[in-house]
Amino acid sequence: MSRGTGMTLLGLGFLVTTCAPEQETSELIQPSEWWRVHPRPVYAELEKVGTFQDWFDVYRVGDGTYAIYEPNQFEEAISYLVLGDERGVLIDAGTGIGNIKRVVEELTDLPVSSLLTHEHYDHIGGAYRFEQIIAFNDSAALARLARGRDNASLQGYVTDDYLWKPLPEGFDAATWSIPPIEPTQLLHDGAIVDLGGRQLEVIYAPGHSPGSMCLLDRASRLLWTGDHFYPGPLYAHADDVDIDDYIASNERLVGMLAEFDYVLSGHNDPWVASEVIPRVSRAFEAILEGSAEYAEDGDIRRYHFEGFDVLIRVDQLQR
Ligand SMILES: [Zn+2]
Repeated sequence: MSRGTGMTLLGLGFLVTTCAPEQETSELIQPSEWWRVHPRPVYAELEKVGTFQDWFDVYRVGDGTYAIYEPNQFEEAISYLVLGDERGVLIDAGTGIGNIKRVVEELTDLPVSSLLTHEHYDHIGGAYRFEQIIAFNDSAALARLARGRDNASLQGYVTDDYLWKPLPEGFDAATWSIPPIEPTQLLHDGAIVDLGGRQLEVIYAPGHSPGSMCLLDRASRLLWTGDHFYPGPLYAHADDVDIDDYIASNERLVGMLAEFDYVLSGHNDPWVASEVIPRVSRAFEAILEGSAEYAEDGDIRRYHFEGFDVLIRVDQLQR
């Protein structure tokens, strides 16, 4: 999950909330007019690839590696097509609002499986379009995938507050759902996903959610992080977050820093220098020892750091 980008509230000296009809969302979590983050500067440096549609923006970020970005919806989800010599995987499947499978088919003739970094709606929405679905073998995550998402639970993600541009043709918010997902392949920590001449190694990284994993391409020196890290407000406040696991997972990635140069994240920017990973560990240290700056709204705090923020509940700090 993602919410805009880190910034300005620290200086305001007061706190604001917006009132949606059905719920109240803190301005710390979803800034009004969040779309003012566009254009995000990193995209000017990347090679844009034209496709038949305009819901996804597609960028080539390396050999056989494409970022498939949904800039028009608040999550700004990014999925990645990763191709080997014989097959490919789509790392995450977006919100499901656009037809990501058709985009994939336009980019490659190879067989492509859907590989889910974790079980949240904005990463799994298009998975049902694929015959082969790969996920981490965690019982809580699998149970959540098996439930899918009904229309009522998704309505909040296609409101005017969430959308910057029109929904794609053929998408009907009134009937939108995410069908139950039964993975055809389960992964464990250290498993290798072999694409033929290219291998991705599974790094189990619980914390953001129970079933979260990262994927490491040692040869290309790239790490896909899903929602463990993205350049935006990290969701440490969410219900299924385990902060101790989150910190431990990040420490593990710090220990692997010699293996990757760039982080390809699940939201906002697809290309972030790896030096951000140790800074995430230092950020949590500063939060827990009480030395970091924050803005507060009710029981939510938003801590600001260079390149990312952290959202956390006050009760999580009382330990
Ligand atoms: Zn998530």
